[in-house]
Amino acid sequence: MSSLLVTGSIALDTVETPSGKAENQLGGSATYFSLAGSILNPVRLVGVVGEDFPKEYTNLLAKSPIDLQGIEVRKGSKTFRWHGRYSEDMNNRTTISVALNVLGEHGPKIPDKFKDSQHIFLANSDPALQLEFLDQLTSPKLIVCDTMDLWIEHNRQNLLEVLQRVDGVVLNDSESRLLTGETNILTAAQIVCQLGPKFVVIKKGEHGAMLFSEGAIFLLPAYPTQKVVDPTGAGDSFAGGFMGYLASVDQTDFQAQAQALVYGTIIASFTVESFSLDAISKIKRQDVDRRRMDFLKMIGTTLNV
Ligand code: AMP
Repeated sequence: MSSLLVTGSIALDTVETPSGKAENQLGGSATYFSLAGSILNPVRLVGVVGEDFPKEYTNLLAKSPIDLQGIEVRKGSKTFRWHGRYSEDMNNRTTISVALNVLGEHGPKIPDKFKDSQHIFLANSDPALQLEFLDQLTSPKLIVCDTMDLWIEHNRQNLLEVLQRVDGVVLNDSESRLLTGETNILTAAQIVCQLGPKFVVIKKGEHGAMLFSEGAIFLLPAYPTQKVVDPTGAGDSFAGGFMGYLASVDQTDFQAQAQALVYGTIIASFTVESFSLDAISKIKRQDVDRRRMDFLKMIGTTLNV
């Protein structure tokens, strides 16, 4: 076990999928990450919410091994809100509205007792806030970040600075193309590594994920779940599983990263089975391990080839 710290958005989401509509639900990149990561390793969560943030959501997070002392409830401010709608096949998502609210203000302060954290994840948020955050850390061992199209297009300069200061980055295939201008994923990954990170994970939704690290590649399909209710937070949960595993074994080599990719894949497969955090907040390590064993059989790791 090692210390694992995350910062990013804590949100009130409204989500529409072919399965229905869920309004003002608990969401946010750091929230999904925390619940996912805390299945494998305790998580320290740092973020800001407004006065309107419901107490029941704080109580839900408090049931998992997540240290909430880094959540600031800012007086006079409102919580970040996001409203998204998925296409019939759930492969595409449109943002209907976004209200940055507190995310458009200055970033959170890291509590003194969290400053020595070793495994750091900068979940999706304004790269300017990600930079502010990095400046407060004293002894990071592994820093990984996420981002999205909005920041690649509108805050590229700060994002490039973030990339120079991290060890790894987790991106969607479309984000890697937007960032590099390359359509070929392999070339895009190589260019991302030239921007600073030592490794890059490219997520391809239902088609799985790829790890590019130390000049080597590891490929993984997605876990085939029949019950996709709401894909929101799959990427953040993937990152939570990935970082949670690395923190739990306190290793960062290629072998550990490949194992971490498996955990990320499995934990994300639970998230999509319900709206908001309903599924991910209920599962235990045993559920993850059981599904992981099934998955390893499916991808042929038991074949003697
Ligand atoms: P994902 O489906 O993994 O991309 O993550 C979805 C989560 O990201 C939702 O819960 C949103 O609240 C959050 N989100 C959406 N847009 C932003 C943004 N611009 N900055 C930070 N978080 C966001």
